[in-house]
Order: sequence, then C-alpha cells, then structure tokens
Amino acid sequence: MRPTGPLHLGHLFGALENWRRLQEEYDSFFFVADWHALTSDYADPSRIQEYTQEIVLDWLSAGIDPQKAVLFIQSHLPEHAELHLLLSMITPLPWLERNPTYKEQLQEVTNKDLSTFGFLGYPVLQAADILIYQANLVPVGIDQLPHIELTREIARRFNHLYKRVFTVPEVLLTEFPKIPGTDGRKMSKSYNNCIYLSDPPETVEAKIKPMVTDPARVRRTDPGNPDVCPVYDLHKIFTPQKEREGYVVPGCRTAAIGCLDCKGVLLKHMLPVLTPIYERRTKLAEKPGQVEEILAAGTERARKVAQETLHEAKGAIGI
Ligand code: SF4
Repeated sequence: MRPTGPLHLGHLFGALENWRRLQEEYDSFFFVADWHALTSDYADPSRIQEYTQEIVLDWLSAGIDPQKAVLFIQSHLPEHAELHLLLSMITPLPWLERNPTYKEQLQEVTNKDLSTFGFLGYPVLQAADILIYQANLVPVGIDQLPHIELTREIARRFNHLYKRVFTVPEVLLTEFPKIPGTDGRKMSKSYNNCIYLSDPPETVEAKIKPMVTDPARVRRTDPGNPDVCPVYDLHKIFTPQKEREGYVVPGCRTAAIGCLDCKGVLLKHMLPVLTPIYERRTKLAEKPGQVEEILAAGTERARKVAQETLHEAKGAIGI
C-alpha cells in the first residue's frame, strides 16, 4: 500500500477487511510501499514518512495482526531494490510503455512531472516486491491486473533466460464495494470527502450529518430514492439487511422518515464498527516503541525470505 495519506473507509472495506481474512488462511506479507510513493511524489517527499507511520497504525487498529501476517516498510529491505535492478535488465522497454496505468497517469496527472525513469519502471519494482517472496497469490482489484500480468511475464522471462527461480504468481481478484465520500463522489483524499479511521466518533457524526443525499429529496415531505443516494451505499455496508429493507427503504420512498433520521440509523450501526478501531489506534499511537518493534520483527521475517530468493536469483545469473 502506497503511503499517500491516512486510511479511510475506502481502504478499510477495499483492502483491510480482505487482508484480515487472508491473514487467517495464508502466509501473508503486507508492506508500506514508500519507494512507490517516491516514484510519483519525488519532488515533495515531506509527508511520506509521516503517512507511513499513520498507515501502520491504521492497519494494526483495523485488525491486521503481526502474529499472523508479516508487516514491514519497503525501504527497510534494500533486497527489493537489488532485485528490481536485476529484473530491470531483462524487462523490454515496450512492456513498460504499453502499461495502461502509466499512459493514463501521464495524461491525467498535470501537477507533477511523471516522465521519469523511476515512474516508468515502477511495475518492475512491483514485480520485485512480489517475486522476492515467491508469492503464489496477489490480492488486487481489477485495475491492477495489467501490473500482475507484467510481473508474470517478467518471472517467466527470468526463469526462461537463466533458471527456474521465481514462482509465477496468480491473481486473487478482490471486488471492492462502492464507498462514496460525504459529497457523493468516490471517497478520496483529493476530494476532501473522507471518513478516516483516525476520526473520533464525534467527527464521524459531524461528517455524516451534512452528507449529500438523493438530490431530488429537497423537502422533508419529498419521497426519496435510496438507489441514487450515497448514504444508502453506506447503509449497504453497515446496516443489517432486515432494517435496511424493512425500515430505511420504505421510509425513504414514502417520506415516512427524513434524511436525518436515516443518517441516525446509519450512525447507530457505523459507530460500533469504527469507534473500537479509533480507540485501538489512539492507544497504539501512545506507544510508538511498540509499533517500531512490530515493524522491526516483520522486517527480519521478510528479510529471511527476501535474501534467500535474491541469493538464488544472483546464482542463476552467475554473479
Ligand atoms: S432517507 Fe436515507 S436513503 Fe433516502 S434520500 Fe435520505 S439519506 Fe438517502
């Protein structure tokens, strides 16, 4: 996960809930990709370190368990950089230039100069991040499929050129639920519409109350349509189906309930999920030494595997 800001509900239901399940079933490696943040934020890296710390706190408070999963920070393991270098020797340039995300970002991001060697090559770094742990499965959303395909191609090319060293990983496709921000657009730091895991309950309440609803529901007496209401998208995540379908939907469609009542129901279910995360986070933040210890232990566990793979890769090349 790139450290580009504190984590919000989109991350909680898009990634962390999934990770929490995966850590029960698989040997899982989760890391903060601070070098990846540098590929696009190299001109202003001032907040990368702060966000890195915040993210680890968010993970731990959301239930990512360092006893079950290996947690670390990418830049603490220079082995990733060394493998990235080796893999970059065998990666044909057109493979990188045809990466759809690369082309899209070059066009869309206008406030940063992304025409750098590092940015073009970030999928090779990503391949190193994955292959160095001999990963069988990579949990990603559909937008990441081209990257994983590139990782597979690089692994196959290495195995073919030298010797079979790398496991060719498979994708574990993850569906992300729709998480709207408080203004109805996709929840994103850049839209300033997020509910953060670090928000205290009062802030969550203060953000939900003025949240955008069905725009056709201007007056309290106007019936609404939950299908076009972003508050209802949150209900789908937090409110049990019975209450949603038995109370919220008919109440909205007949104007029997107002939007504030409806948001009250949402908060009734939302706060018991978010408040314990907030409380755990506050406690952990008071003990930075404990978080450092967790990361140091995770780094050592990761290093063992990373060094072994790197040793094999170098041996296969003969250097
Ligand atoms: S009553 Fe609820 S679902 Fe209906 S428009 Fe208002 S906030 Fe949305």
